[in-house]
Amino acid sequence: MQSRFLRAAALAGLIFFCLVLGPISALAQPPGPNEMPSVIHVPAEAQPSAHFDATAATNAYLAQIPADRTARSDAYFQGGYWLILWDFLYGVVIALLLLNLRWSARMRDLAERVTRFKPVHTFVYWMQYIVISSVLGFPLAVYEGYIREHKYGLATQTFGPWMGDQLKNLGIGIVLGGILAMILVGIVRRLPKTWWIWGAVATNIFLVFVGLIAPVYIFPLFNKISRIDDPKIVAPILRLARQNGIPARDVYTIDASRQSTRMSANVSGFFSTMRITLNDNLLRRGSPEEIQAVMGHEMGHYVLNHVYKSVMFDLIETVTMFAFLYWGIGWSLQRWGEKWGVHAISDVAVIPLVLFLGSIFTFVATPIDNTFTRAQEYEADMYGLNTSRQPDGFAQGAIHLGEYRKMNPGPIEEWVFFDHPSGRNRIYASMRWKAENLQLFAAPPSAAVQVQDQHVDGSTPSPAASNAEKK
Ligand SMILES: [Zn+2]
Repeated sequence: MQSRFLRAAALAGLIFFCLVLGPISALAQPPGPNEMPSVIHVPAEAQPSAHFDATAATNAYLAQIPADRTARSDAYFQGGYWLILWDFLYGVVIALLLLNLRWSARMRDLAERVTRFKPVHTFVYWMQYIVISSVLGFPLAVYEGYIREHKYGLATQTFGPWMGDQLKNLGIGIVLGGILAMILVGIVRRLPKTWWIWGAVATNIFLVFVGLIAPVYIFPLFNKISRIDDPKIVAPILRLARQNGIPARDVYTIDASRQSTRMSANVSGFFSTMRITLNDNLLRRGSPEEIQAVMGHEMGHYVLNHVYKSVMFDLIETVTMFAFLYWGIGWSLQRWGEKWGVHAISDVAVIPLVLFLGSIFTFVATPIDNTFTRAQEYEADMYGLNTSRQPDGFAQGAIHLGEYRKMNPGPIEEWVFFDHPSGRNRIYASMRWKAENLQLFAAPPSAAVQVQDQHVDGSTPSPAASNAEKK
């Protein structure tokens, strides 16, 4: 159940550092069992021609994926649907055990014996709580984070380093979760009627703060981040950044291959902390066109202010969740408070109940959260296509993503479970864009003459210039 906080922290991380792309194995290693073909050649149906058809081009791209790879990534992704349920139920069982066996009440009593200083009670309680719930949750965590990831060829760590990362996560959960718990318990004690509003506001401010410090203080605990000096990589990315008003001076890389084969990139920070990061998996396996497409997508998140929109969405959602907690905690304590040895809402022993009710809310809100994120991802896709003009790079990226996502779900399935548009929809959107901008790609000679004729000053427009004029 400590995963409630970790999930919230992960959510905050996502807001700031959108992880975009799918997995890959490093070139130096033998191809992983999950590896999708790297599309080097654009299929014939997706080559520019007078009879270019977006649907046929999409199908031609999808046909490049061998059937066994599709079956494998479908199985991985659909297994994730069940994990949402198992995580939820497992968390419920742990919370009910801690409450009904009165372990939570005992942890509170122990914390009160350590010191008379109340905020420290909360911290000491939290420390015991997160350690015990992590131990109880360990079997599922090993299956989900280690065994299953290896089974599908997505993980690169042996057990020792993986366990090391888990312990670091636990340490971060103790410190950050402990601070948030002290803030929230303090608010509940001082504002018994309106804590659900101020608690939600404080939680969101805290998560924004964690998101801001994470690149400097948290990520380096797990990975090495370094500046890329190769001008062949850096120059086109910074050109794209300048075209989009992003004041980045350097491009960084993170050694994500230490943990996983997944590709990702992000644009994060504000003003002087502004930075563009590509992970090493993307750098090694993405074609130049694909990297430009991905960076265009990431820059879309930045330019379209998705960070601020997400913070507002989260605030509304958190206030709603805290209102539900306000009602749900009162209702539960009236019935079972005495049995659990939990005296009041301001009693720290209430924390398993808070996380239990919070997980019900999060579970039910899954499709709403996914739909909000997916809508932003679609916006970033469109922005990325317009700025990078690399529809084939996009298609290739979507296929790489297909190593751990289902390419072709049904519409309801996509609505409920997908936090990004499905691979098929992303390729189709790219091919539709290509169909409607065919003059950018080796246009037939007659079309080129027509475009030139429209220029009264007699200059010959480059494909890039003619596209800019249409915006
Ligand atoms: Zn994104």
